[in-house]
Amino acid sequence: MTVAPSPDGPAAQNGRAASDWLEELAPVDDFARRHIGPTAADIQQMLETLGYERLEQLIQAAVPAEIRLARSLSLPTGLNEHQALAKLREIASQNHVYRSYIGLGYHACITPPVIQRNILENPGWYTQYTPYQPEIAQGRLEALLNFQTMVTDLTGLEIANASLLDEATAAAEAMSMSYDVCKNKAAKAAKRFWVSAACHPQTIEVVQTRAQPLRIEVIVGDHSQLNFKQPPFGVLLQYPASDGAVEDYTDFIAQAHAAGALVTVAADLLSLTLLKPPGEMDADIAVGNTQRFGVPLGYGGPHAAYFATRQAYARKLPGRLVGVSKDSRDRTALRLALQTREQHIRRDAATSNICTAQVLLAIMASTYAVYHGPQGLKRLATRIHQLTAALAAGLEKLGYGLGQAPFFDMLRVEVGDQAEAIRQRAAQQRINLRTLDARTLGIALDETTSPADVQTLLDIFAGDKSAPALRQLSPASPLPTALQRTSDYLSHPVFNRYHSETELLRYLYSLQMKDLSLASAMIPLGSCTMKLNATAEMLPVSWPEFSQLHPFAPVEQAQGYQVLFQQLTDWLAEITGFAGISLQPNAGSQGEYAGLLVIRRYHQSRGEGDRNVCLIPQSAHGTNPASAVMSGMKVVAVACDDDGNIDLADLQTKAEKHAPQLAALMVTYPSTHGVFEATIQTVCETVHRHGGQVYMDGANMNAQVGLCRPADFGADVCHLNLHKTFCIPHGGGGPGVGPIGVQSHLVPFLPGHGLSPGVGGEQAIGAIAAAPWGSASILPISWMYIQMMGPAGLRRATEVAILNANYVAKRLADHYSILYKGTSGLVAHECIIDLREFRKTAEVSVDDVAKRLIDYGFHPPTMSWPVAGTIMVEPTESEAKAELDRFCDAMIAIREEIRQIEAGKVTAADSPLRHAPHTTADLTDDWIRDYSRQQAVFPTDWTRDRKFWPAVNRIDQAYGDRNLVCACLPMSAYE
Ligand SMILES: *Cc1c(COP(=O)(O)O)cnc(C)c1O
Repeated sequence: MTVAPSPDGPAAQNGRAASDWLEELAPVDDFARRHIGPTAADIQQMLETLGYERLEQLIQAAVPAEIRLARSLSLPTGLNEHQALAKLREIASQNHVYRSYIGLGYHACITPPVIQRNILENPGWYTQYTPYQPEIAQGRLEALLNFQTMVTDLTGLEIANASLLDEATAAAEAMSMSYDVCKNKAAKAAKRFWVSAACHPQTIEVVQTRAQPLRIEVIVGDHSQLNFKQPPFGVLLQYPASDGAVEDYTDFIAQAHAAGALVTVAADLLSLTLLKPPGEMDADIAVGNTQRFGVPLGYGGPHAAYFATRQAYARKLPGRLVGVSKDSRDRTALRLALQTREQHIRRDAATSNICTAQVLLAIMASTYAVYHGPQGLKRLATRIHQLTAALAAGLEKLGYGLGQAPFFDMLRVEVGDQAEAIRQRAAQQRINLRTLDARTLGIALDETTSPADVQTLLDIFAGDKSAPALRQLSPASPLPTALQRTSDYLSHPVFNRYHSETELLRYLYSLQMKDLSLASAMIPLGSCTMKLNATAEMLPVSWPEFSQLHPFAPVEQAQGYQVLFQQLTDWLAEITGFAGISLQPNAGSQGEYAGLLVIRRYHQSRGEGDRNVCLIPQSAHGTNPASAVMSGMKVVAVACDDDGNIDLADLQTKAEKHAPQLAALMVTYPSTHGVFEATIQTVCETVHRHGGQVYMDGANMNAQVGLCRPADFGADVCHLNLHKTFCIPHGGGGPGVGPIGVQSHLVPFLPGHGLSPGVGGEQAIGAIAAAPWGSASILPISWMYIQMMGPAGLRRATEVAILNANYVAKRLADHYSILYKGTSGLVAHECIIDLREFRKTAEVSVDDVAKRLIDYGFHPPTMSWPVAGTIMVEPTESEAKAELDRFCDAMIAIREEIRQIEAGKVTAADSPLRHAPHTTADLTDDWIRDYSRQQAVFPTDWTRDRKFWPAVNRIDQAYGDRNLVCACLPMSAYE
């Protein structure tokens, strides 16, 4: 196939001379030219600017010859959007959507259509970046504050974060935090974490995986038997229990506290509308999944987990936290709070490596609560509970034992030797039940269950007998008064005002309008690859065959998914050169963690379990050291030279010095400085020579696809960020997928999953995520991308990504100094613009430049990473030359504004840079600036035509951290 982004499409390039008229009828379009921004003519012009004739020449100069792939990737030929969708439809049709009453923390639910179309399927929301620039992110910050408020209200705890990856990893985070804050020295020294056997099995497994490298002993058992004579530092309970039992933990928690242990309750959020919440039992932490708040099952994810705790532990909270602060006009404004807790700052002192979380899904869940309101949620929960009670009454009438405990929405049914027969009858009706053991089945009802469904269940359990008619039953709630919730929740106006669709639509739209997404302009973020998320890639996510499968449905029902996993795995293996791929990690950070555990297990398998030193270059992303520590490794920093490359001499010294303990090197390629280090093979060889393994952080894979392969030049493990390189949208800070690829000697250790025995290697590290294939329902996005681009399109995309970055670097080079270039004077796919001198020459900070870019209609680039005082720009292949020029023109105009200060024409304090971003409030108040209103808000023609107005002025970060408020303010605060 042809991929040159020719306006005439492939037919023209195939040549009209072809006598075969059928040739002429080849599809008139191809996808690559839609994905790649610059046209063939643009590319030629840009090459001229750079002094190259052909793109190949630029690539030869930029990418070291030793590592270049000599052939094209062996992948299926690219298909256009229509063809690829048809092919995927065929695969999807091999999935069979049964009604799943399996539970295990996943429940069918109804995504309100207004939420599906206006959030999940809306590029104005899903293409947003993580809200590090709060002035242009007030919409999603508000939706996340709603999420935090919803979680604190329902759990009865004081503070909640803005989502974690899944319930199981949230429970593992709770274990780490409990250890961190536990004050009982003896318990801490003994390092015991006690987990109730009534927890979901996947949660127990993930906690066990997480505990091992930290040398925490996990004891699983019946909590009523726990002996506090040898107290654990923490306890994990499930509420309601995995088999449905609801129990008041208040006395147990008091005992645990008396012994100095912290208690985490993994709780079903919907049940808390009826049940006494964990906070009122005095639990220290509550975690759980918010999937059933309107987020499709998706065969395991993505969904947002929550994490709530006491205010006193705010500084220990994992993940991101939205807080209330104020802007320079003293108006209420939101932003990410306490960022000093994050892995970026704490690095190897971090206890959590969470970076990308589940923002889009958290926003869906909180909007579901806005949509239903407290009464609506309570009615939903009551209805489910009553239907469950009716089912219980019917089953008892049929002679089944149900155990003694009260329940909310799940029954444990003792069926004796009938289990297989019942399961078969259920299967005939396309129904899945949970198998608790050989003689016990589980049934979990949900929002979608109707009385007719309950009747069907009774018929199934009745078999030859006649089932009692639902109408004739008189169900009663088994919940004792002490377990019933009496306290209010969701009383804030936001959960009580938008219950007509018109009102909700306008509320959502008003939030969306406050946020700059790819629908507005380029988001030039270094290392985060904000490329096109094509509509054709997104469509399949909503297909019921992908969205409605329960993660623990029998694998025969998910054959379409199996085909998709296999193909995607094969393709990613070909793209990276690795022998095996695991799709389980649901973010880059989780890929790092999984990969390091694989390395650790490999060393152990060879009797070299003492190897625990992880070398990490100073410039590494914060998740790297955090993941190393979580994997039980000791971080040793390796220096970088003046060009931003790994200091080979220092590497040599450290590798030698730590040789007997050397476990791994973590290296990003191209480097975090955006350079193809020519010495990468030597780096890998050095580590191998001293017995270590090479972990490659593949966040920068967008510079490699089709040109070189990590496995070929020496990496043993590499994670890919499908939400960067492979087109899964950023979602405003998640979801993500961070699969790992490994060399053949590491394949046996790839993550497994207790509930899906086919997953992972023979000597698998345990599960590292709740679902066997992680966030399965967004994998079709990457499948579509690769299938539509084909090998030639993918390679072309990489080449144009490198071209675009070099074009920006070149155009800005006369105005700014560009930090770090490779030996040929070229950057890779991103470039670092040095702003440090302006501090001295003009008192202008990185913040000033970044916020001023907002006035010009851009999302600011990555700030002060990997080098303080700089900004990093990654234009990606999807941005057209016109947009790159607009960005360069804005940067050049800003340089001119800085020059005005340098020349003494204005002071920094009076410059537009210092007061950026400008808002409508600036214009409508008395104008007091030395520069014009036009210069403030319409510095270019484009801004007159397509102005993006920031909702607030520059935000005071420190104020918010000093006055921490992490839930919705009362309405009076806004008046
Ligand atoms: C984005 C990124 C990560 C972390 O990935 P998440 O999906 O956010 O967890 C790690 N390393 C680098 C270099 C990155 O750019």
